[in-house]
Amino acid sequence: MPTRVVVLGAGFAGLELATRLSEAVPEQVHVTLIDQAESFVFGFTKLDVMFGHADIASVECHYSDIVKPSVDFRRQRVTSIEPDRRRVVTDGNTYDADILVVALGADLDPAATPGFVEGGHEFYSPQGAAHLATVLPQFTSGVALIGVLGPVFKCPPAPSESAFMLHDHLVRHGVRDDAAIHVISPLPKPIPVSVETSDAILAMLAERGITYSGGSMVTRLEPDAKRAHLADGRSLPYDIFLGIPVHRAPAVVVEAGLTEEGWIPVDPATFATRFPDVYAVGDITNAPVPRAGVIAEGEARTVADVIISRVTRGAPPPPYEGAAICYIEMGDEMVARVDVNFLAGSAPTASFRAASSAIAAEKRTFGQSRRQRWFS
Ligand SMILES: Cc1cc2nc3c(=O)[nH]c(=O)nc-3n(C[C@H](O)[C@H](O)[C@H](O)COP(=O)(O)OP(=O)(O)OC[C@H]3O[C@@H](n4cnc5c(N)ncnc54)[C@H](O)[C@@H]3O)c2cc1C
Repeated sequence: MPTRVVVLGAGFAGLELATRLSEAVPEQVHVTLIDQAESFVFGFTKLDVMFGHADIASVECHYSDIVKPSVDFRRQRVTSIEPDRRRVVTDGNTYDADILVVALGADLDPAATPGFVEGGHEFYSPQGAAHLATVLPQFTSGVALIGVLGPVFKCPPAPSESAFMLHDHLVRHGVRDDAAIHVISPLPKPIPVSVETSDAILAMLAERGITYSGGSMVTRLEPDAKRAHLADGRSLPYDIFLGIPVHRAPAVVVEAGLTEEGWIPVDPATFATRFPDVYAVGDITNAPVPRAGVIAEGEARTVADVIISRVTRGAPPPPYEGAAICYIEMGDEMVARVDVNFLAGSAPTASFRAASSAIAAEKRTFGQSRRQRWFS
């Protein structure tokens, strides 16, 4: 009997995990991959959608295209999880797992910030990004505030990336001189792990006349007065507000008793939870690394290797080392690269490569290779 592996969530983490298990041990495991969505959308393509460089249909990767040995995809919503029995109930079925992997990501909660739903726009969901593509052409003058609304958010560079792309958008439309752009983020620097990367981003933002206020976040909007209130007591006027909503673990995971202080605690070496044979991976954990797709993918590889070593009775794999390559949009269709390693040494390391069109091409290849690997 193959080992029944049930993977909840087919994002960066779930897709990489299912693919690696299918490649390595198709005879020894059977993977049930469950997601409520019809398709996967890479986070970074939401920026393209928001600025009208791509339409949503062109960036969707349909789960129905997944054809892999020993992997069954189920489009269902997970409604309850019993981690001690490794039992999962969805709106279509009940699953009992030998090994359960929770990869449900972080939910967005726009309503958690008073005034945001009425007075702002989010670009972190595919729908939000597509809606903004219809709104942004109407913004031709005034203040654009790009604000983070919670202390934890995925893709630390995204606020700065969206500012660079907004600058380009306004230049293209001939209205940049009539607009101000201001980024407000809880991160003291755009990329806390790398002073060099942060300094490069801050210098390029300043060159373009974009203000970056680190170390604070927006807690409330006053839509009628068009003012954003910040945690540090300031309030700022805006004409358009682009927000990164509060992030939370999906309610089903909280109700299952899997979380502590909002996220799932894991052993960062193996991603085991406190429940036997239950792992958690990606944005949903409290692992001491940023929330990003490239990180989630690396974590999933480790979990896959842990499962492979178990079913093949091989040696345990090395612990997760926290390494990833992050691509950062810097405007003018140029992309910078930072190679990070969070856990291998005594302190995190990062090495920065300045923005170029060659790295932009490398980023495109990165996306295409995942699309091909996961959706074939
Ligand atoms: C604008 C933007 C830009 C980004 N740019 C980058 C970038 O350049 N590089 C990078 O590395 N990362 C980037 N990210 C971050 C990246 O997208 C996430 O960190 C990554 O997707 C996390 O992977 P995950 O597998 O943990 O979760 P997700 O990819 O979010 O997957 C979780 C899945 O669980 C499913 N799910 C949730 N609840 C349920 C339920 N109850 N039942 C069934 N299914 C459920 C969801 O539908 C989803 O498919 C960006 C994100 C955004 C928003």
